Amino acid sequence: MTTSSTLGTPGVRLTPRSEAELVDGLRRGIDRRFGPCVEHFVAPPVIDRRVVELVGYPESFPQLLGSVYGAPQGGPVAATDLVLTAAACHHLYPVFADRALASPVVASVEAACYRGEATSETGRLRSFRMYEVVCLGPAGAVEEWRDRTLTGAAGWLRELGLGINVVAANDPFFGRTGVLLASTQRSQGLKSEFTAEVDDGLVQAIASVNYHKEHFGEVFGIADADAGTAHSSCLAFGLDRVVLALRRRHGDDVSGWPPEVRSLLS
Ligand code: ATP
Ligand code: ZN
Ligand code: MG
Repeated sequence: MTTSSTLGTPGVRLTPRSEAELVDGLRRGIDRRFGPCVEHFVAPPVIDRRVVELVGYPESFPQLLGSVYGAPQGGPVAATDLVLTAAACHHLYPVFADRALASPVVASVEAACYRGEATSETGRLRSFRMYEVVCLGPAGAVEEWRDRTLTGAAGWLRELGLGINVVAANDPFFGRTGVLLASTQRSQGLKSEFTAEVDDGLVQAIASVNYHKEHFGEVFGIADADAGTAHSSCLAFGLDRVVLALRRRHGDDVSGWPPEVRSLLS
């Protein structure tokens, strides 16, 4: 069931308490299965504009980025130093900036994300919750984590009863250069999505695994134990879509769900 906001704004929805409890269960389940994490962060819905510029988001996805405007001291309305969070993991890299990691680090972060999506089908929200587990470290260790996580996430989602598919994917990079970036991302197998039915006949990515190579390590000056640039990879769950997929599969009444599914979320 999708509860739209009272004014019916597309892509913006309220969370009923029953769903909030389910989302709590998902967080616990993800932490249990993909942890242990050295740290967990709950991120705000806004982020330093400079961070987002450093990661290259405005060039790559200008169509999705939202900005915070204000009128300080009643002056003219102008852009502030904040933009809206587009991906939870953007909050995490600055935490490790200018550091050398003695060993690979796994941390998790959740944020309310905004994306200026062009369409507003069920599950394609403009404001949604993203829960991410991120690994930073030497290339070999991060690739191994990525491979293990891909298999692990597929297994966990299937144990939850979801008929998922694992598919090679790419991000919607903007413009002509973007076409090239997208095809490189796909041909190098840098992004995989777990797709599931979220509504009648509507299949969407409910989670993705991304390998960024040394991109974030380079931008934020994160080194691995051998003084090389740290690589990174993330596992990102779209909590709203996972809930939709679970409801689609098992029904709206959580008390009637199979016990093995409920115990994974307890
Ligand atoms: P899509 O291809 O559906 O646009 P994406 O590739 O843009 O997804 P990611 O950037 O990989 O998504 O984000 C991680 C996860 O966040 C996605 O797998 C999805 O579950 C969720 N997500 C992304 N965009 C939205 C959205 N507009 N509404 C709800 N959940 C979303
Ligand atoms: Zn991420
Ligand atoms: Mg998208």
